[in-house]
Amino acid sequence: MTPSTYKIRQTICEVGQRLYRFRMVASNDGNISYRIDDDHIIATPTGVCKGDMTPEGLVTVDIHGRVQGGGHPSSELAMHLFIYQQRPDVSAVVHAHPIYATAFATAGLAMNECVLPEIVITLGAIPLAQYGTPSTHELPESLRPYVHDHDAILLANHGAVTFGRDLWDAYFKMERLEHYAQILFLARQLGGERGLASPEVEKLREIRQKFGLSGPTPECIVADMRRQHDHDCTCGKHTHASETDIERLIDEIYQELKHDFWPERRSGRSN
Ligand SMILES: [Zn+2]
Repeated sequence: MTPSTYKIRQTICEVGQRLYRFRMVASNDGNISYRIDDDHIIATPTGVCKGDMTPEGLVTVDIHGRVQGGGHPSSELAMHLFIYQQRPDVSAVVHAHPIYATAFATAGLAMNECVLPEIVITLGAIPLAQYGTPSTHELPESLRPYVHDHDAILLANHGAVTFGRDLWDAYFKMERLEHYAQILFLARQLGGERGLASPEVEKLREIRQKFGLSGPTPECIVADMRRQHDHDCTCGKHTHASETDIERLIDEIYQELKHDFWPERRSGRSN
């Protein structure tokens, strides 16, 4: 175990502790992995609470899932391997069962609406993959329609998976997803969220492009919103900020986010 590998293992344990502490997993649920090179992955072991892992207890597997060191890897390893195979830019995967996000997944609800600017910029639309039996190849197959264009995916009747350039990138996407799910849930208790109109969404798309996020784009119903906006929609569901407001909003968000997100987006692997 090299010093750099040990540091990665420590980070996986720290991410696991946060998942457990923030109730995004229960008991032994959830799994985390990190791609250390083109052929090798460090993954969490099966049957261990994510809050109680040790660096020495993690498992090394090759890209085909064959164990190279340690005990038995997570039963959802196939899902992690599928994501690595489909996304060369991804170096870390986090799977969890966050309460609110899983509630949406259980209710059959994707989170595709353009509601919060930060979510549009950072995660885009969050699709719902159809149900696949856990620990079988049904689960990775369910991701196939979405894995290339999204970094956060709900798993029907199961949970969620997020991935990114490093462990913290993948973890914070899960945390952000769950936070958004809580807000969306509460907004619906208060009469329903008010979606951003297409001009605002288009500005947010531009910010995504500034960050180099050309892949995962929101598929939220921009066309429908634009059509309703163009026809001077009076349905009350869409906000209509002035151009000045939008420009100010975009600038504020960009200034706030540029130091927080992807300072070296997809420019290499690190933990
Ligand atoms: Zn699961």
